Formats: sequence, C-alpha cells, structure tokens
Amino acid sequence: MPKLSKQRGVGLAFRLRTMGDRVLDHQWSFAEQAHSHPTSPEARAALLANPGFGRVFTDHMVTVQWTEGHGWHDAVLGERKPFMLDPATLVLHYAQEIFEGMKAYRTSNGGVVLFRPEENARRFNKSAERMGMATIPEELFVGAVEALVRADADWVPSGEGSLYLRPFAFATDVFLGVKPSSSYTFCVIASPVGGYFKPGVSALTIWVADGYTRAAVGGTGFAKCGGNYAGGLAAQAQASANDCDQVVFLDAAEHRWIEELGGMNVFFVMADGTLRTPPLSGTILPGVTRASVIQLARDAGHTVNEAPYSFEEWKSDAESGRMREAFACGTAAVIAAIGKVRHGGGEFLIADGKPGQLTEQLLSKLTGIQRGQVNDEHGWVHRVV
Ligand SMILES: *Cc1c(COP(=O)(O)O)cnc(C)c1O
Repeated sequence: MPKLSKQRGVGLAFRLRTMGDRVLDHQWSFAEQAHSHPTSPEARAALLANPGFGRVFTDHMVTVQWTEGHGWHDAVLGERKPFMLDPATLVLHYAQEIFEGMKAYRTSNGGVVLFRPEENARRFNKSAERMGMATIPEELFVGAVEALVRADADWVPSGEGSLYLRPFAFATDVFLGVKPSSSYTFCVIASPVGGYFKPGVSALTIWVADGYTRAAVGGTGFAKCGGNYAGGLAAQAQASANDCDQVVFLDAAEHRWIEELGGMNVFFVMADGTLRTPPLSGTILPGVTRASVIQLARDAGHTVNEAPYSFEEWKSDAESGRMREAFACGTAAVIAAIGKVRHGGGEFLIADGKPGQLTEQLLSKLTGIQRGQVNDEHGWVHRVV
C-alpha cells in the first residue's frame, strides 16, 4: 500500500507519497505560519555584503529520514536548527557520511537557477552505494534542493556571489558495532558565498603532497564522503606550512601521476592548444565542473585528452614551455588558475605565473552560462525562481 507521509516544519510543509523507496508524487505546500524569527532584510543585507565562504547560513533547511523497511519519510522544510545526536550515533564513530556541493545563481534578469542538479543527484547515489548507504530518488534530491532555494531565494546574492548548497546524509543508528546503519538523515542547508579564495589571489600556489596520498584503487576516491577530506587535512596543513593555497595529490601506487587537489579537479593546457586532465580511474572525484569544462573546451575546438600526466612531465613541460597553463576547477572555486608549484625539491612557475588565456576564456564562458549571459546550448541551467 502506498504510504502518505506528511509533516509540518516551521512555516512550511512538504507532502510526499512514497511506496517503499519510490516516490509516487510529491508536492510542496506552504503553510501560512511564518518562521518564528526570520532574519530581517537589514540584517540579511549586512550578511550578504561580505559573506566569505561557508560561514553565513540561511533561515531554513530540509531534512528527510530513511529507515530500513520504510524507505524515505518525514520530509520537512523548516527552520534551520541543530541536530540532537546520541553520543553513540554511528556517523560520529565510523564516518558513514556523504555530501554534495552545488550552487544557486542569480541570473542577470533576476531569476534563480541551479546548474546540472541531476548530476549531483546521480553522484550522490554513487557515493551512497560506495559507502553502504541508502540511495535517494533523484527527484526527491532535486526537489529538496529546489524547495530550500525557493524558501531562501532572498539569500541568493547578486553580482559575483552565489548560494552554496550542501546536501548531505549520515548514519543515525545508535550503535557501536561496525555495520551499515539501518537509518539515515538526509539534509540540505544553504550558505551565501562570495569568492572561495581570499581577494587578491589571482593564481594559486600549489603544494605537491609529500608522503600523503588521497585515494587508492578500490578505495573511496570517487565518492564525495567526509572521510576523504579528513584524510587530506594533514596534507593541506603541510601545504599551508609551505605558504601554499592548496595541495595536489599524486597517485597512491607509484607516487608519480597527478590526481587532483583536495577538493578540485585539475587541467593542463599544452602549447599546441590541447588540454589534458587525469582520467576518471576510480581514485578521483568525477567533478561536474570537470565534465562541463571538457565539453566547453571541445565546443571551442580544443582536443581534450583524459590521460595520465606525471609530476616529472609537468615539471619539465613547464620549464620547456610545452605546457602553458594549469587550472583547478570545482563548484566552490569555479576555475582557478595555478601560477606556481612548490614541492619537496623546489618550485616552478606555470608560464609567467598569471592566469592563462584559455583558463580565463573557460571561466567566463562557464560563469556566463550560469548567470544567463551566454547561450545555454547544452541545457545545463535549471530554473527555480
Ligand atoms: C567536489 C569535488 C570536486 C569538484 O566537483 P564539482 O562537481 O565540480 O564541484 C573535485 N574533487 C573533489 C575531491 C571533490 O570533493
């Protein structure tokens, strides 16, 4: 029998008709009761003036529960508030947790859009499978994100900023045995953001991880799980200690092939105009930005090789001029030029250390599409407001 679950959050309600793990239909309805203490327009304007990254949050959040035997239920769009967790909650001990990162953009005509949200939904489920967690129907994932963006649309900055969205799920069983949880909470929160890097940084200085790797074949490199980030923090600290902005990891088996940064994929532009990026071999995260950059570069007539590139080649190609530009990319940082590479044995510059021409062209094309200023040939933009 189809089950109808309905729960009221503060001020807003979500109706979801499910059968097992299948969503039959869902519909958002907004109750008339207002948020108990919404941020005033003046306070919000002050927060939006200089939000930085990931430290300002909106008024609402979405939560949906999953229980073995019942599937997804109790979907609530309500006031953003802390979780109450038993100290033995599984996620706190064994890190059974996954997340996504996406953004809502204000377009030049005042609308609000998401960028390829169904790609994030698909990747979330690949991460869930790898971590032994419940998968979520794509329409519920995207519907939850859309509902939050609608509720907090006034928090989407205009200009260069955007509303960073963080869907995530975690194990909620209260149990210290090691096994996949039989219950999960899915949640979406939102954070208005400006630039990812401190203002004035035009090209990144990258540290090559020394003695640390991020992911091995058969491991969790392709999954967006918190554990991958925890495992990368010591290398990031090593980068900071060496006055670098970010760390780049080499492969775990040979310590030779460039993989990716802690939270961004990496591209190289050769002197002949071809691009190169490490292949998706299971140890790197399949970025939506990476896939979009590959498409945009090909649209512009460039050859893109998804082929391994070694640190030694990178160094000698930078010195000989065979490699002209390098950049990192991801939703948070968009496209960020790499100007200098520092490693245990010294450092080298990428060309003159300033952002390259193709790097800047790809950045303006991608952000132009996201802002509705450039024709969206591939149907990537998903209008919400
Ligand atoms: C999220 C992430 C990326 C970038 O993915 P996008 O979909 O482009 O945001 C790259 N590498 C890692 C390790 C990531 O976690």
